[in-house]
Amino acid sequence: MQTCVFCKIATGMLPATILYQDELVTAFRDMHPVAPTHVLIIPNKHIQSVNELEELDGTLVGHMFLVAKKIAEQENIAHSGYRSIINTGEHGGQTVQHLHLHIIGGQRLRFSMG
Ligand code: AMP
Ligand code: ZN
Repeated sequence: MQTCVFCKIATGMLPATILYQDELVTAFRDMHPVAPTHVLIIPNKHIQSVNELEELDGTLVGHMFLVAKKIAEQENIAHSGYRSIINTGEHGGQTVQHLHLHIIGGQRLRFSMG
């Protein structure tokens, strides 16, 4: 998708602090971090949201969580803990229409549900 910000980050057309990249996913720092560690993990291919996932994407989604584990270890938050969040659609608060997994940690997070 030519106009999608996260597609541009995945292909290197837009700068970002990339922490990890392979043939399936890219992990980079959120530009407006809400905690000391705030990383986004995206599929390299454009998928709008969880709603657009297909049966064949199961391996990809599993891989996103395995990369989350790797990032948490790298960032030294695996032991202290962190949140893994995917927002979907308007009510879910999704502002970028390319699937992304937030990894947020480095401090005790307040509980928030809406
Ligand atoms: P969401 O509200 O779940 O759609 O989250 C979108 C996230 O993307 C927000 O936390 C933004 O700060 C982050 N974001 C948007 N544009 C960029 C960008 N160019 N580089 C890094 N993070 C971004
Ligand atoms: Zn995209």
